[in-house]
Amino acid sequence: MSSEVVVSSPSTDEQQPSPATQASNSALKKVNLLGMSRAELENFFEKLGEKKFRAGQVMKWMHQYFVTDFAEMTNISGKLRAKLEQLCEIKAPEVVHRHYSKDGTRKWVFRVGDGAGSLVETVLIPAEDKTGLRKTLCISSQVGCALDCSFCSTGKQGFQRDLTPDEIIGQLWVANQSYMEDVPVAERTRSVTNVVMMGMGEPLLNYDAVLSSMYIMLDDFAYGMSKRRVTLSTSGVVPKIDQLAQDIDVALAISLHAPNDELRNELVPINKKYPLAQLIAACQRYINKDGNESARKHVTIEYVMLDGVNDSLEHAQQMIRLLKNLPSKINLIPFNPFPHAPYGRSSRNRIIAFQKALSDAGFVCTIRQTRGDDIDAACGQLVGQVADRTRRAEQWKKKVAERNEIMRSHG
Ligand code: SF4
Repeated sequence: MSSEVVVSSPSTDEQQPSPATQASNSALKKVNLLGMSRAELENFFEKLGEKKFRAGQVMKWMHQYFVTDFAEMTNISGKLRAKLEQLCEIKAPEVVHRHYSKDGTRKWVFRVGDGAGSLVETVLIPAEDKTGLRKTLCISSQVGCALDCSFCSTGKQGFQRDLTPDEIIGQLWVANQSYMEDVPVAERTRSVTNVVMMGMGEPLLNYDAVLSSMYIMLDDFAYGMSKRRVTLSTSGVVPKIDQLAQDIDVALAISLHAPNDELRNELVPINKKYPLAQLIAACQRYINKDGNESARKHVTIEYVMLDGVNDSLEHAQQMIRLLKNLPSKINLIPFNPFPHAPYGRSSRNRIIAFQKALSDAGFVCTIRQTRGDDIDAACGQLVGQVADRTRRAEQWKKKVAERNEIMRSHG
């Protein structure tokens, strides 16, 4: 886990040491404010003997003006700025690789954790729609993933650990900040319009950190995003879908990928624990939770098109039967093959025929445009490549050191 000091929530912090004590206990470990929700920050400032409204001020500096130096926070007294400088930091994960594609797609690989750390990736995909230019950021929630979906590059890397809230929200921070690097502080704005929790990892298996990060996304003192523009995508952790419905109002997407249990058990193994009937029922409950103002008017169904595996017209008919009572929009995703992938991408004709069958049955069904192919935008791929390069560089360094050692020992 991260080395950052975590400030407890207001209800459980009575026994906790003060922030000053926490910081002095470890000279090197400053409290990272980036991943704190407003409630946590208010609690933090109260413990410092300051007014709660300081939380909103600092949040705006961090998340709306992308300021990390307390000295630049001009509406805060010099004395408090000095105290914050001493106790805290505002720190996003380290960017170890970034690539901006010709088609506007941007991709980052972050190092998280101590020492050599672990790598996670984030991708931003721009698209024009009737509301203007959308910039959708696909955020990772875990290092690797334990669920081992058979078509997924991340699943092949295994599970390493959960990301902390500052590592999750830090991805959004870096993406927004990347458009503002040369803009004077007073003129900075937020560029990312949509977030999907659909990167590496299963977000509902890192529930608390993901929830806390989504609160920050929706908070007007931070990113102020519309609840309809924040989407959590899950492979189907049914009990957590119900919990999510109680805790926050965001859009829900399901990584379906198969229209029957037999095939889904193979492609998305968590289906053995929570089969389709349970999953669809949970989606119904999620949509029915609130009234008209909810972000939950429909569920987005994600369906990766695997050549000869799940892309026949019979599969389309099974989808139609499965989803007939669930308000849903279907997004067909042409598979992006990765090295040693056991599947191929369905042909364009097959994808269009599949889409037509669903559209004819009354579903809104779109085909995701493949973007960022020149930077390997499929989930998990870039991390694999950067890790490979790092390993190769390390092996090379080791070989050089060994050779030098041999030369030294031979005079
Ligand atoms: S598709 Fe999602 S849930 Fe499945 S292994 Fe990949 S990251 Fe995990």
